[in-house]
Amino acid sequence: MPSDKQINGETERLFSKLEKVGWSKSDCELIAPLTLEINQLKKKKNAIILAHSYQTPDIMYGVADFLGDSYALSLKAKETKADTIVFSSVHFMAETAKILNPRKTVLVPAVAGCSLAESITADDVRGLKKAHPKAAVICYINTTAEVKAECDVVCTSSNALKIIERVRQKEIIFLPDEFMAKNLQPLTKKKLIGWKGRCIVHEEFSPETIKEIRKGHPKAKILAHSECSPTVIKEVDMMGSTKQMMDYVDTSKAEEFMLVTECGLSDRVRTEKPDKKIIGSCALCPYMKKIMLKDILECLKNPRPEQIIDLPSEVIQKAKKSLNRMIKLSQ
Ligand code: SF4
Repeated sequence: MPSDKQINGETERLFSKLEKVGWSKSDCELIAPLTLEINQLKKKKNAIILAHSYQTPDIMYGVADFLGDSYALSLKAKETKADTIVFSSVHFMAETAKILNPRKTVLVPAVAGCSLAESITADDVRGLKKAHPKAAVICYINTTAEVKAECDVVCTSSNALKIIERVRQKEIIFLPDEFMAKNLQPLTKKKLIGWKGRCIVHEEFSPETIKEIRKGHPKAKILAHSECSPTVIKEVDMMGSTKQMMDYVDTSKAEEFMLVTECGLSDRVRTEKPDKKIIGSCALCPYMKKIMLKDILECLKNPRPEQIIDLPSEVIQKAKKSLNRMIKLSQ
């Protein structure tokens, strides 16, 4: 049991971060015993917690060791010396950590899917390859391990264009995000063959909302994730990954920004860059928000079988090639 002094110290630590996203001191006091226990268990078990930027602020600033987009977190997972990786994000990202560092124990706090990862199977990829035998197959990181195993190279939203340009083939099966393929097509001379997957969060944004915000805030910069529809992308100042959006906010002279993506990123900007003002609305991913502090504690203490990532070695071997190729090509 933590002492009153420990609880008070932890409450202050949490409040210094979370007050920027509207948490009260008593909210922080409520979660302080949980974050204390998780952080102690992490040390005891030589575990590391990697959290995606779409996680809730209590996870991001209470217990995570690293925050980032799927590319940055993959690199961390590959390099870590910790015995256990707790991947606080959706299932495909935890699978990616296991593929890149198979000797580690990889835990996922809650079994959370993703509409993009669920939109395509390994069989579908085999069908596409048969229909386009000369094409390279680039799959977005938001896919299952079995799908990655069928691809030539993986990409993330931060390196997709670079990977497209660096593969030898002129024709590319780019899957599974329909909108991302359409958004990237005008930026390359190569032919992209898309799939019908969509992110249920980013597809909800409309160009009308962007136009409305633009009218009320003419000096604001509007940044959108490349999973948004091309009609939305047409209206914004910049398209990119969450990391590229954070970098843009960092270096831009503008004072107001709308981040057309999941709300976790707006929380990060409010917490880490309090001099920048976030306007407009964001959207919540029901998969990402499934993960709670209590799940992290539970998987660290005594993981249930579904919280332990276990993949067939053949899938690991094949998917690892595609992921390592991405790392090589993005350098
Ligand atoms: S935000 Fe979209 S792409 Fe990301 S996990 Fe949620 S559904 Fe999948």
